[in-house]
Amino acid sequence: MTSEPLLPLLDTFGRQHTNLRISVTDRCNIRCFYCMPAENVPFMERKELLTYEEIERFVRIMIPLGVEKIRLTGGEPLVRRDLDRLVARIVALPGIRDVGLTTNGLLLGEQAEGLYRAGLRRLNVSLDALDPIKFREVTRRDGYEQVLAGLKAAERAGFREIKINAVSIRGMTEDEIVPFGHFARRTGHEVRFIEYMPLDAESAWEREKVLFASEIVERLSRELMPLVPLRGADPHAPATEYVFEDGVGRIGFIPSVSQPFCGSCNRFRITADGKVRNCLFSLEETDIRGLLRGTAADAEIVEAVRGSIARKWAGHHINAADFIQPKRPMYSIGG
Ligand code: SAM
Ligand code: SF4
Repeated sequence: MTSEPLLPLLDTFGRQHTNLRISVTDRCNIRCFYCMPAENVPFMERKELLTYEEIERFVRIMIPLGVEKIRLTGGEPLVRRDLDRLVARIVALPGIRDVGLTTNGLLLGEQAEGLYRAGLRRLNVSLDALDPIKFREVTRRDGYEQVLAGLKAAERAGFREIKINAVSIRGMTEDEIVPFGHFARRTGHEVRFIEYMPLDAESAWEREKVLFASEIVERLSRELMPLVPLRGADPHAPATEYVFEDGVGRIGFIPSVSQPFCGSCNRFRITADGKVRNCLFSLEETDIRGLLRGTAADAEIVEAVRGSIARKWAGHHINAADFIQPKRPMYSIGG
């Protein structure tokens, strides 16, 4: 295939897809209740996972279609061996402008330096609570101190763009809101509150458990300091961003449930076992692994991805009566 630009990945609503999220594994070293089952997780077999060579080939094929932004995720991406090798390969691809990683941070202590050396600059670290007991309640594992140590290691390694992802859950993490506000101000890391979505493995999601972005803005503004919206943010970014009125401390929100951002969505995903998904909530997926492992030409892979994007819905149906939760939970899709 030439690297000449091809027609962009447009869906039937005119949305161009430039942002690819790649899951590298479904395994994880903790068990967040909103993502994984507590025990006996049915993990993929190793041979089912795309190799780094297969992932690199897929990204190469996507670049002429306009894909320029990559995020590596999982499961926990840092449990996959030598992730820095994959980062280096992707960073080196001409046309890729931006590579990020979403991690629970537990293994950053040992890997932050290697990842930075490989060319990674954007890091999202998931941490739902600053209270260690609450952390254990959410993750059903120990590791709070290790995450904080991982964050420090990332700072030492040179990472400047670190964002903290905190899923906000009513009846559980309300008391974390104000401490996270102080944390954002003290560390300079943007804290992004993510609304709890119906992608848990145990189908225990209830709308009543979603702590809405608007409530968090109100609480931080009242109990800490007024928040003002940040202007000039990327119109495709799912997060709405604020800064405290004295200019210190950024807070972001991913209000997937209360204010869906589907209209400007530019993302698609490939799971660790090589299925393209045009939406987190899609009920269908397109097998790419079979094509990568067979004799398919690059053009066939392009057509398979175009087909998937063409079938993308206008938006998720979380707020509709006909909502059906996808069979794959978050850890298996790649968040
Ligand atoms: N293990 C890594 C981590 O936790 O950052 C990467 C994968 S994880 C699936 C990606 C992100 O999805 C995390 O920030 C996690 O908190 C979020 N997430 C998982 N399940 C979720 C759910 N049901 N609702 C909202 N966010 C969720
Ligand atoms: Fe693991 Fe991330 Fe899922 Fe938590 S959210 S169980 S850290 S994959």
